[in-house]
Amino acid sequence: MTTSTATYSTDATLDRAWAVLETVPDPEIPVVSIRELGILRDVRRAADGTLEVVITPTYSGCPAMSQIAEDVAHALDVAELTPYRIATVLAPAWTTDWMTADAREKLRAYGIAPPTGNCGSAAAPQEKVMRFVPRALPAPSCPRCGSAHTERLAQFGSTACKALYRCIDCREPFDYFKPY
Ligand SMILES: [Zn+2]
Repeated sequence: MTTSTATYSTDATLDRAWAVLETVPDPEIPVVSIRELGILRDVRRAADGTLEVVITPTYSGCPAMSQIAEDVAHALDVAELTPYRIATVLAPAWTTDWMTADAREKLRAYGIAPPTGNCGSAAAPQEKVMRFVPRALPAPSCPRCGSAHTERLAQFGSTACKALYRCIDCREPFDYFKPY
């Protein structure tokens, strides 16, 4: 695609906006940024030339989403990258596959088991949406001692995005970021 709608020939503003937004942490898991989680999808010029930031919610109805939009707006305001527009894009739906490897490691270090397995092929993004029957997923390993001997205590942990597990070996309860 080489359609050029840019009215700006150089775009240092976009570069600055990326740099600023890469530092915005996830409100629930402050050790990872919204970019590392895959929530920040794009920073671009809209057709009218306005700076546009595209975010995709992790889980529909996740209350953190309005907080993320506020944090993005605040970061852009502070950096004086105005005017801007924040677009929330729901399709394609976010999946835990969008998390970077760095984000998974940071989750583990923070005491949250990162999602195991792969939740849907990038080649068939629609398939996941139409799958209504939950699949049996492997139990996450303990983020503290690494044991695979874990049990689920509750379907929902500290937020709806996570399930509460307990390690049978070291007895520590932990949040598991559910694959989605
Ligand atoms: Zn353990």
